[in-house]
Amino acid sequence: MNQHIWKNIANIYGTPAYIYDGNKIAQQYELLKNCLPEPFEIFYSVKSNPLLGICQLFKKLGSCIEVASSGELYMALVAGFHPSQIIFTSPGKTCEDLLYAIETGIYSINVESVEEAKLIHQLASDRQRKVNISLRINPNFNINGAGMKMTGVPTQFGIDQSILKETMDIIQALPSVRIRGIHIFSGSQMLDADHIVLTVDEIMKLAVDLMDTYHFQLDFLDLGGGFGIPYFKGESYLEMDRLQGGLSEVWGRYKKRLDGVRIGVESGRFLLAEAGSFMTKVLYVKESKGSKYIVCDGGSNQHASTAFLGRYVRNNFPMRLLEKEGNLEEVNVVGSLCTPTDVLGQKVMLPIAEPGDLLIIDKSGAYGLTHSPVLFLSHVLPPEIICLDGEITVLRERGHYADFLRGQHSFC
Ligand SMILES: *Cc1c(COP(=O)(O)O)cnc(C)c1O
Repeated sequence: MNQHIWKNIANIYGTPAYIYDGNKIAQQYELLKNCLPEPFEIFYSVKSNPLLGICQLFKKLGSCIEVASSGELYMALVAGFHPSQIIFTSPGKTCEDLLYAIETGIYSINVESVEEAKLIHQLASDRQRKVNISLRINPNFNINGAGMKMTGVPTQFGIDQSILKETMDIIQALPSVRIRGIHIFSGSQMLDADHIVLTVDEIMKLAVDLMDTYHFQLDFLDLGGGFGIPYFKGESYLEMDRLQGGLSEVWGRYKKRLDGVRIGVESGRFLLAEAGSFMTKVLYVKESKGSKYIVCDGGSNQHASTAFLGRYVRNNFPMRLLEKEGNLEEVNVVGSLCTPTDVLGQKVMLPIAEPGDLLIIDKSGAYGLTHSPVLFLSHVLPPEIICLDGEITVLRERGHYADFLRGQHSFC
């Protein structure tokens, strides 16, 4: 997107704002799709960015959708997804969540414990229904390489492979649930193609073993995903050719056994992170005891990920000043919250900033606003804007002070 677009958006819609490049989203979707063996389907992970317009764009691109709450399920339905395109994963689904999923008739509820399966059975049998579920498994294998590892270690997710036999026996005896698939999500932010390929190989091996051992036919194999993108120095892009070659080789070995099985991968970050930026305006430039601070109108309340919340390593997101070049200086980029944790960038090298400059934080399309403590200090939500084929559309308008009163009652 060219420089004029940023300025125009700032002039018309104000700052701070999230801006998405719709063409880049489509490009990432195609890139991932083309690297997967032919029958594989992509399930967009709503939690990475639950905007209605983004969900609708993925629908248009041909994606299925993975939800992790009733709110996300509602969003998926409003966006126009057919129940057969929806799967639901979460370690803590309530009775209400499960009923909503059952009544909607989604493709698969990904179940994370025996207790959850029993609850679904009870809810389904009360309504004379039979419900399709998949078992989320925490496998014994542990392939390193994920930024956030979620299998092969103790976790609240899924059913340990070591108790799978007992679990299968119990669940297969529940008449109102049917195990249609298995699901393994081994972690997020994987940047090594070989690790992803090895993980898929292990999952397919496990799937075939299960079918042999328990004499049942899978209709769904959810491979998870965790396709990463580089954010920081020293990280590099996932090698898509290598990934494609590796997956195609693995699929070649299993496709006969898995013929007719619906195969899914899930993705949020890879599809969106690089297609979105957070734009904020420099309000003040000041110095304190030898350190320079750039105070902006947007902060960690709107972009927690860049402010290191939920991250172990305090490295900076890529950020730049619009239309500014030349001498760089070391600065701290901060927001306007009354807390020292409101730091968007620490010891960043930037050109000399002045009040009124536009600061753009890239790679912010996934886990941006959705991952942020937006009630903290009652700053209205920033607008979220998409640019597709040169056309600008507001997906979420800037919030209002009254938004914070919604649902509240006066007292005293
Ligand atoms: C968060 C999550 C995803 C999405 O992960 P990305 O790294 O954003 O692709 C997919 N599946 C499950 C089960 C998740 O919890």
